[in-house]
Amino acid sequence: MRHRIAVIGGGPGGLTFARVLHHHGHPVTVLERDPAPDARPPGGTLDLQEGMGQLALEKAGLRAEFQELSRPEGQAMRILDTNGTVLRDWKPRPGERANPEIDRGQLRDLLLGPLDVQWGRRVTEVVPQTHAGVLVHFADGREETFDLVIGADGAWSRVRPAISSATPHYTGVTRVETSLDDVDTRHPDLARLIGDGSVAVYGVNRALVAQRNSGGHVKVGAQFRAPLDWHTDLDLDLADAEAVRSSLLALFDGWAAPVLDLLRHGTAFVHRPLYVLPVPHTWAHVPGVTLLGDAAHLMPPLGAGANLAMLEGAELAESIAAAPGPGDLDEAVRAFEEQMWARAGKWAKITTAGLERLVSPDPTQALAVFDEVQPS
Ligand SMILES: Cc1cc2nc3c(=O)[nH]c(=O)nc-3n(C[C@H](O)[C@H](O)[C@H](O)COP(=O)(O)OP(=O)(O)OC[C@H]3O[C@@H](n4cnc5c(N)ncnc54)[C@H](O)[C@@H]3O)c2cc1C
Repeated sequence: MRHRIAVIGGGPGGLTFARVLHHHGHPVTVLERDPAPDARPPGGTLDLQEGMGQLALEKAGLRAEFQELSRPEGQAMRILDTNGTVLRDWKPRPGERANPEIDRGQLRDLLLGPLDVQWGRRVTEVVPQTHAGVLVHFADGREETFDLVIGADGAWSRVRPAISSATPHYTGVTRVETSLDDVDTRHPDLARLIGDGSVAVYGVNRALVAQRNSGGHVKVGAQFRAPLDWHTDLDLDLADAEAVRSSLLALFDGWAAPVLDLLRHGTAFVHRPLYVLPVPHTWAHVPGVTLLGDAAHLMPPLGAGANLAMLEGAELAESIAAAPGPGDLDEAVRAFEEQMWARAGKWAKITTAGLERLVSPDPTQALAVFDEVQPS
């Protein structure tokens, strides 16, 4: 089999796809818009579930390396009320590895390994069913054709319009992220508050979550229900860190001082409104083009998106590796899509309902969500 296969996007989904195909000895072209692996901060930490992200890494032959890098202690989760009272304090049992954490940058480097990624290749459009195959247009004016193009290019996919008219819509919940460095030495009280994993505080229509990454780095996310243009109404310049900090402190006014310190000591602030794709998101099969990960099923960030993207990447790669001829390749993609739609649709419903309850008028709902999923 020597199909010309391109995966657009070097996120968890695209890289897992490429790595598993590589593991089976098949060539694949990875086209990534970022000019280099470290062109932008890689983002926070991901928990990889046993039957999803971890299974995908096993299919890539990377289970042992993951065990070395991941942080099982990061599974710890503490929930406080807005007065700072600890309501729940879960710690993983010795040897528990159901959802260990790994920094996104470490996961990316692990997956990259021997892959030959073409950096700085921003795709602008994909045209299926041309006489030479699937035509891919790039921002620099170049064009290339392939037998199969996989859109693993995330929420704002440029591959998706080739097969679906769906576009992401705003959930009504926005997120402002900040971070703390060297938390153990610079902010020991906050380090104790956060513990080895995460701390979350739920109030009326708002939440603050802090999550430990490796190396004493902590990501803090303030989530709240607001119109998309909440900052314009407040005449708030999102590039002005001090103004954003003050505005968040006003929004979370009355919460316990140690909790608000997560915002007081945060460095830069990044605004990330939460968007989702319609549920279910399916399309009429188009030969030569498919999607996986956020490009196919963007959903609220409640621990499933990267896991799904990786498992889909691994499964699609395995089916392609087992497909002997061009007709079989298309059949493999069709079967993959059916399987992805069913599983992702289920998770999209779970995470949509989860977000409704986690950022809701009734904070006891948030606690109930955790009580339902945490081992007792
Ligand atoms: C705060 C937060 C916390 C999260 N925590 C978790 C978690 O713990 N567990 C979990 O499973 N999920 C989590 N998620 C969700 C997870 O981040 C995403 O679902 C996951 O990254 C999707 O992977 P992907 O490979 O599909 O897309 P992405 O990670 O978005 O990667 C897409 C890649 O495509 C590239 N690209 C984009 N456009 C183009 C283009 N035009 N041409 C070429 N390249 C392009 C991008 O540069 C990027 O490298 C979280 C999300 C957020 C926001």
